[in-house]
Amino acid sequence: MKKTSALLLVLNFTLVACSTTQNTAVSPSPSESAAAVKTVQNKTQKKPLVVTTVAPLTNIVSNIAGARAEVKGIIPEGTDSHTFEPRPSDADVLSKADLIILNGLHLETPTAKLAKASKSKEAKIYELGSHTISQDQWLFDFSFPKEKGDPNPHLWVNPKYAKVYARLAAQQLTALDPAGKDYYATNLKNYEKRLDDLDRVTREVVKSIPPQNRKLLTYHDSWAYWAREYGFEVIGAIQPSDFKEPSAQDVAKLIDQIRKTGVPAIFGSEVYPSKVEEQIAREAKVKTANTADDELPGQGSANAMENTNPEHTYIGMMANNLRIIASGLGGNPKLVDSLNTANVVGPTATAATTKTK
Ligand SMILES: [Zn+2]
Repeated sequence: MKKTSALLLVLNFTLVACSTTQNTAVSPSPSESAAAVKTVQNKTQKKPLVVTTVAPLTNIVSNIAGARAEVKGIIPEGTDSHTFEPRPSDADVLSKADLIILNGLHLETPTAKLAKASKSKEAKIYELGSHTISQDQWLFDFSFPKEKGDPNPHLWVNPKYAKVYARLAAQQLTALDPAGKDYYATNLKNYEKRLDDLDRVTREVVKSIPPQNRKLLTYHDSWAYWAREYGFEVIGAIQPSDFKEPSAQDVAKLIDQIRKTGVPAIFGSEVYPSKVEEQIAREAKVKTANTADDELPGQGSANAMENTNPEHTYIGMMANNLRIIASGLGGNPKLVDSLNTANVVGPTATAATTKTK
């Protein structure tokens, strides 16, 4: 080992010596040396680092960033994003970021605070949520009551808003890396097509569900903006606003409500496994299954460039949700099968071309 590095050192010296000799012998023209410097710069120039938070955001942003920017999501998948406290190592990542993309709307407050404190002077913090809807479009509900002042932050669950997120990400990436303008625009166009398909299929699935069943009672209250978009009613959420388990009184009220509304199913979440939810389903005699809002299905990486599982994507998560909702509420889950859930960049983009419609 030592011998090799010594040898390399000698070699290095020889190379430096040679190039110095060469430079003095034939000096390159100014334009030639400028070009040479530029090539070296391009080779050594690191890709911009974009830091995101939850898995769906990481997936959406990395589909636009593709190979031109490094995307790093700091909230681990399967973690409760609402109570996530960043680790010291996250401060380090945030300090190196060129752009920090958050959901905002008070979803990741501790991370937003740490981002502000740790970021470099040049790095920009950009909140997708507040640029997607205005305050008068905010929704407050069961787990996010108006008195507390925090709106429901789950905008991305609505594919229409996910499309705005993708568009905003493309704008921010282009501002950061203007030379990549066309590249980001192409990725955006391809991804928007996928999201349009998701929207279309969602409408078909909703149509297949009997109108009286178009009601959601979920454990975690993340369907507000989806429900508004697709004509569903959110009749309640089991999780109280402090993200703890509901009281016995609340449970009794929910069971009563389910019986009255006659919904055939209620929905949990894998991030919040709840015994209470099972108890409610048992006592109200309804089915229960787990939907997800920030956990992508199966194994894989939320970062499109690292991911090899075409289901482990934002669209894959929504496809799963649609199947679960359709099955529980008397709709047709088969309608979801036509969706291409793969990323538009990275390993799954090339592997899944056969399924592209
Ligand atoms: Zn959530």
